[in-house]
Order: sequence, then C-alpha cells, then structure tokens
Amino acid sequence: MRDRKFRFIILLTALLISSFLFISLVSYFSAHKAIATQVEKTTLPLTSDNIYSEIQRDLLKPISISTMMAKDTFVRDWVINGEGTQKDIIHYLKEVKQSYGAITSFFISEKTRLYYHPSGILKKVEPSDDQDKWYFRFRDFTSDYEVNVDTDTADRSSLTIFINHKVFDYAGGYIGAIGVGLSVDSVQSLIESYKQRYDRQVFFINKEGIVTLHGSSYGEEKDIHKINGLSSIADKILDSERSSLVYKKNSENIYLNSRFIPEFNWYLIVSQQEKEAEIRIQNILITNLAVSLAASIVIVFLVNLIISGYQKNLETMATTDKLTGAASRQIFNSLFNQALSHSKRNQRLLSVIMLDIDYFKKINDEHGHPAGDRVLKVFVATIKNSIRESDTLFRWGGEEFLILLPDTNMEAARTLAEKIRLTVADMAVTFSGEVISATTSAGVASITDTDTADALITRADKALYSAKENGRNRVESSVNLPPASDNAPQHSL
Ligand code: GH3
Ligand code: MG
Ligand code: MG
Repeated sequence: MRDRKFRFIILLTALLISSFLFISLVSYFSAHKAIATQVEKTTLPLTSDNIYSEIQRDLLKPISISTMMAKDTFVRDWVINGEGTQKDIIHYLKEVKQSYGAITSFFISEKTRLYYHPSGILKKVEPSDDQDKWYFRFRDFTSDYEVNVDTDTADRSSLTIFINHKVFDYAGGYIGAIGVGLSVDSVQSLIESYKQRYDRQVFFINKEGIVTLHGSSYGEEKDIHKINGLSSIADKILDSERSSLVYKKNSENIYLNSRFIPEFNWYLIVSQQEKEAEIRIQNILITNLAVSLAASIVIVFLVNLIISGYQKNLETMATTDKLTGAASRQIFNSLFNQALSHSKRNQRLLSVIMLDIDYFKKINDEHGHPAGDRVLKVFVATIKNSIRESDTLFRWGGEEFLILLPDTNMEAARTLAEKIRLTVADMAVTFSGEVISATTSAGVASITDTDTADALITRADKALYSAKENGRNRVESSVNLPPASDNAPQHSL
C-alpha cells in the first residue's frame, strides 16, 4: 500500500512537472517567435520611419533658408550690378550664418566664378578642380535646388546638410548658386536615444556599403562587407530600397531594417539584438517555472495529505470492528508481539481475558438481532471504560471478546475480569422500550516463559469454557484448570 502510494506520488509529480514544463516551454517559444516577428515587422520599420520623418523635418529648415537667400533682392541686385562692394555680400553671408545657426553659408557667382564665404572670398571655382565639380553638376541640374549631405571633415559623426539653390536675375537668367550648411543634431540625438533607450543600433551607409553616419558607440570597421555577421547580408541591403533581414553574430540573432533615403543617397539602417527581448521572456520563463514548481509542490502535498487520510481510514477499517469499535482479530498478533516485548523489558507478566456473553443466542431470539447488536455495543463500551489505555479489547468472533493486558499478572487480570463481570451484570441495555440485561463468563490466562500466543489463548479459552461449565456469569483462570489430560473439549468460537 505504502509502496503504491509512493509510486503514485512519484508519477503525479513527474506528470505535473512535465506538463508545467511543456506549457512553460511552449509559451516561451511562442513568445520568442512573436517578439521576433514584432521586432522584424513592426518595431524596426517604425523606428526607421521616425528617423526618416525627423530627417525630412530637418531638411525643410535649410531649404527654406536657401530659398529665401536665392530670392533676396539685395543678393540679386548686387550680382546684376556687377558684384561691386565684396564686403557687402560677405557681411550678408555672415549675418545669415549667425542668424540661423548654420555651419556655413556661401554664394558662387556664375559670371566671376568667385566662391563667397562669411570669411571672405575662398577661391575661384574651376571645372577642372575635383572639389568644385559639384557646382558645375548642380548648374546643369533641372531643379532649382539640391540637398547634398556630407559629414564634417573635422567630426565624422556630425552630419551636415548643404542646400544648394540656384539664383536667377529678374528675367530668369541663371546668375549663381547660394545656400547654407546645417548640422542635423536631432538625427544625431535620435540615433543616441534609440541606442540608449532600446539598445537599437542606428546608422547610415552609402551605396558602396560604407558607414557614413553613426552613433558614438559604433565600432571601428566602416565597410559593412567586412563587419562580422553583417557581411553576410551586405549585398542584400544594397540591392533593394527596403528590406527586413536577420543575421547571426556570435550565434545571436540580429534583426535589421534598411531603407534607401533618396535625399541623402544613403541607406538608413536600424538593427536590434535579440538579447533585450530575450532576457525579458527568459525572466517570464523563470517565473513560470518557479510558479509551476510551487504549484506542483502544493498539489503533491495536498494529494499526499488526502491519500494519507484515506489510507488511515482504510487502516482503521481493517483494524477495527465496524459494529462495536473493538480492535479486529487481524491485528492481534502484531499488538501481542509489541505487548510481549514491552512486558519482557519491564520484567512484568502479560495476561489475557477471554469473554463470552452468556446465552446471547437467547437475547437475539427474544429481542431481535438489532437488539443483540445494541447489547454488543454497550458491552464493548462498558469494558472499554474498565480497562487502561495500554490494554486492548479485540472482538474475537460473534459475541466473544479478548482483552490483551500488558504488564499484568494473573492476580490483577483476575481482579479486572471479576470487575468486568460485575459491571456487565449491572449493565441495562434499553432497546425499543425494552430493558435487556446480560452476563458474561471470563477465562483468564497469564504468559509463561515458554509461551506462544496460541498456547496462551488456548488456556484462556479453556478457562472460559470452564466458567461456562461451572454455571456462567463467573471468572475462571488457567491456574485452576485440571491437568492437561483431563481437559474438557475446547470451547467453540
Ligand atoms: P453461551 O452462553 O454458551 O455462550 O450461549 P450463546 O447463546 O451465547 O452461545 P452461541 O455461540 O450458541 O450463540 C452466539 C450467538 O451470537 C449466535 C449468533 O447468531 C449471535 N451473533 C454472533 N454475532 C452476532 C452479531 O454481530 N450480532 C448479533 N445480534 N448476534 C450475533
Ligand atoms: Mg455466548
Ligand atoms: Mg459464543
């Protein structure tokens, strides 16, 4: 029984733990997949859109400044009138630069090819000079202005937007190019904030795959074809205008979103490691497992408690007579052995009293079987009141009972039997308005040095038989019995 209970508890624990483990892992992997999809399909594209709209906002400001400069009547009049006092245009460029917080401002005259700057005349632009090629390209450009993004040579992480705007005379003739260069601080701070708040890497690459603008934590290598992991998808990024890709770096997945920004001629790249989201769902997994473990322990504990309760009930049912509440005969041997070793330890005797209700059949016949049952119950209750906690009353069969008395010698056992006999004789059982009385006969036997349980019981049984023979409602003990050869037939149970 105990073995089976143990096996059941082990099985239940295994079942609970494996189910909880299965559920936790399934939810972990589905959360994992959901987060990956979310990062790939929503988070990164949204970040990309935010940064792109920020860039467009930043572009509007220098475009409007350049437009305003190109339309300025002072500039146009000054050029039309032959670029007279040079310090006037230099003063104008200085004023614009200061008023709008620009990094630089410039005017290039088509007629004289002079490059005017807030600090003076820088140079004369020449088609042959590589540095000036932009001017001649822009002059032949169809639209009135162009956005030219470049990094400051002094600080590669600082983005500068140059707006080149065409200047026309009042008849619409082209007379030069004017404009400003502004730093895109907000884009820069956006890159940093995405890095700090979400651990998202934001950077720009040109069409050749060279990193042109990045945050302060960006590494050394600028060519994405040579960056560990990223190199595997470098061509894919450069081949399409928009892409959502995943690559592995040091066995960790990195999600990447790219989009081409035509104004810059650059790609905007937003990437995120799986790590951060991973830690979050790992924490959830750990919490789930801890809760599951706690729930398993509680369930196993409760089930164990319930089974133990049932077990105890079953044991009580097996060891107790249902009708009278006396101990059942099945457990006599084990209790006898306990009592025997206890008595031996204390160097005391052990005795038994065998009891049988007199003429019980008659009680049944006269008052009915339920009345007989009632007599049995009251008989047991009466005897229990007369014996010690350490004594045990067994229902030996029918209306026959046995009392096991540890640490009790023949004299004490006889005295107790006599007391019980008198109490039973005084007992008045009321049933259906009738008062039933009964008497009992008792046989007492005490253990000897070489005794076995069976021999002891046989002696008590014989003493009981002798009490019946001698007229009932009396106590006899084995010491008063005649020699073994003269023994009367054994009292039937
Ligand atoms: P004696 O004085 O020789 O013991 O006479 P007796 O009538 O008591 O002896 P006998 O053994 O012939 O009768 C015992 C009766 O007890 C027979 C049986 O029907 C009855 N009996 C046994 N168990 C129960 C029980 O649980 N309830 C009731 N009501 N009667 C029972
Ligand atoms: Mg009887
Ligand atoms: Mg009997």
